[in-house]
Amino acid sequence: MRIGKPDIAVEGNTVVYRTEIESEDGHRELWFRIDAEFGDLVTDTCDAPLVGLLIPAMAAGEDIHLSGAISERLYYNLSAPCQSVFRNVIPTLRAISLRPSELLPGRKPAAGVAAGFTGGIDSFCVLADHHYSPDCPEGFRLTHLVLNNVGSHGHGAEGTALFEERCARLTPVAERTGLPLVRVDSNLDSFYGEGLGFLQTHTPRLLSAALVLQRGLGRYISASTFNYSDVYVGPARGTGLTEPITLPLLSTEVIDLLSVGHIYTRPEKTIKVAEIADSYEVLDVCMKSGSRNCSQCKECLRTLITLDIAGLLDRYSDRFYIDKYRANRNKLLARFLQNKPRRGALRREVLEFAKKSNWRIPLSVYLNARRYRIGNTARKKLRWLKRIAQHTGKKRSDGRV
Ligand SMILES: [Zn+2]
Repeated sequence: MRIGKPDIAVEGNTVVYRTEIESEDGHRELWFRIDAEFGDLVTDTCDAPLVGLLIPAMAAGEDIHLSGAISERLYYNLSAPCQSVFRNVIPTLRAISLRPSELLPGRKPAAGVAAGFTGGIDSFCVLADHHYSPDCPEGFRLTHLVLNNVGSHGHGAEGTALFEERCARLTPVAERTGLPLVRVDSNLDSFYGEGLGFLQTHTPRLLSAALVLQRGLGRYISASTFNYSDVYVGPARGTGLTEPITLPLLSTEVIDLLSVGHIYTRPEKTIKVAEIADSYEVLDVCMKSGSRNCSQCKECLRTLITLDIAGLLDRYSDRFYIDKYRANRNKLLARFLQNKPRRGALRREVLEFAKKSNWRIPLSVYLNARRYRIGNTARKKLRWLKRIAQHTGKKRSDGRV
């Protein structure tokens, strides 16, 4: 894979950072688009495409040749240590070599401090510690919020539409906090093929977009989802659980990528966020699109049950269907409990919080959860048997026995 020298151009009211990409798949262009008012944050180094395309290049087994300059520190860390982490997470990836044309030694970091912001519990917890808290040291106090479009909103035009919708929803929060919202649109998602889904690979995607802004940002704070006790480098669970290890490896001499929030459990974060009045009208935790949190998906249920245990549900009556939740609480609780505890650290934390708070879950809820679980297993087995029957039938009709 060859990553070309970046070209930065003003187009209408945006600034576009572009690089030409040559690979075995052919010639393509990778771009990041930022509102023109934030154009002075945009770097001219090749660090961002290098981080963004490392996993796709490792999946294809292609060495990366770079025509533009990259950070010396990034070159060192991406040449072996970071690849080792990613190969533990996705064992099909192959080790590759980096061939830079120029290495940039130490430079002076810029003063900006940004956080990725989606309006969820993790993001608001970062605001609590790095914006609202009077105890935050100056070098860690936020100056900007960033929302990226690198795969978390879905693919193609549909993903871009949801990205725009979420930007519009978060703009009033940004205005209320006085922190400007930097929107980074990109086609980076289109470089990630089968088996490299967003949940598996979101760390280098999100940090690639942050690296585009390193001319004006000296620190970028990434809101983690998991407690330190759940940090894990291994297959099947994605790069998110590796972040305390990978973010220092993806940092350069001029931008410190920092993963925060690992000191809290999910219920602790939720209760902290519930003290921020700015979150009451905009908290967005839902896995589905829509102007309000659906109040049924696992993300919504996790938050609703925690707020319920803490007696704070009514603070979010504009964001959730609280009446529907209360009317169907036992049924929704059973649905929440149907997966085995070892499947989800965040779910386990909510149950521990219920126990600690003496919040009683009726026996009938556990029995129903068990019933749902047995039903799910039976449905899965039936689907599996049907697939085998279809496959066998196809072989017979092909004349193969
Ligand atoms: Zn939902």
